[in-house]
Amino acid sequence: MKLIDLHTHSLASDGTDSPSALVEKAHAAGLAALAVTDHDTLSGLEEAEATGRSLGISVIRGCELSTGTEHGEMHILGLWLPREAKPLQERLVFLRRKRAERNALIVEKLRGLGLAISMDDVREAARGESVGRPHIADVLLRKGYAKDSRQAFQEYLGSRGKAFVPKEVLEPEAAVRLLAGLGATVCLAHPMLQKYPGGWLEGFTGRLAGYGLTTIEAWHSEHSEADVRACLALARRFGLGVSGGSDYHGGNKPGIRLGVGRGGLRVGLDVLENLEAARRAQGLPC
Ligand code: AMP
Ligand code: ZN
Ligand code: FE
Ligand code: FE
Repeated sequence: MKLIDLHTHSLASDGTDSPSALVEKAHAAGLAALAVTDHDTLSGLEEAEATGRSLGISVIRGCELSTGTEHGEMHILGLWLPREAKPLQERLVFLRRKRAERNALIVEKLRGLGLAISMDDVREAARGESVGRPHIADVLLRKGYAKDSRQAFQEYLGSRGKAFVPKEVLEPEAAVRLLAGLGATVCLAHPMLQKYPGGWLEGFTGRLAGYGLTTIEAWHSEHSEADVRACLALARRFGLGVSGGSDYHGGNKPGIRLGVGRGGLRVGLDVLENLEAARRAQGLPC
């Protein structure tokens, strides 16, 4: 069976492969298709698509948006983004500006703790448009302030870290409506990672379906078999499609490989075919 990967990150945000290297690796791994879904930027998509065309592997234009709920973060993927996406691009400019402000506050806190780190270091570590905590973690590693990124998050950058600053995020309803308005396939990413209180996700998913959510990411590197079953049941309950991807970040998430995640991930080409059939039924382009 041919495999696909509908959730990946490149250097445009916090992955470590250039968009073309990402597509080359997916092709070398034998994948039939991949979606490039960087955080808060579309800047890697053209390069990824060009490489996809030359190698003969389908590249789906995507992005990942962070949103906030009363029970913590919720990530939303937009898939099959149109080339003309002005309202989204405007939102992304705003979110990246907020990221820059937040990164500066984090660096200030780190300096207050006596660490010799500057925004120039962070800008140097980030090679793409969307800059975030993994890039700051990189600098901390390089300067010997942490032994790995796990420790950098635990001690400084994570929600209980000494230099934590919350991120400005969208409301889930607004993110879903924005993406749905562009004709994207709107997918709730890794729903089981956040550990929402029992029963809450069901109600909230039904609510988001009303705003244009079409899909649940059932298969993900961090989902157990029970998580996958819960996602499939959730999708069935609300008549939603299902998707899957590794959330590959290259060297920034060392255990996770394209297509296969931590080893056991399998997302078949039929998953893509079903999503495409649903789009065609709605008159949307693939
Ligand atoms: P940001 O968007 O700047 O808040 O950074 C979020 C990203 O940091 C996520 O997409 C992950 O790639 C990474 N991340 C979050 N928590 C951790 C952690 N505890 N250890 C390593 N990486 C993490
Ligand atoms: Zn990331
Ligand atoms: Fe995510
Ligand atoms: Fe992701």
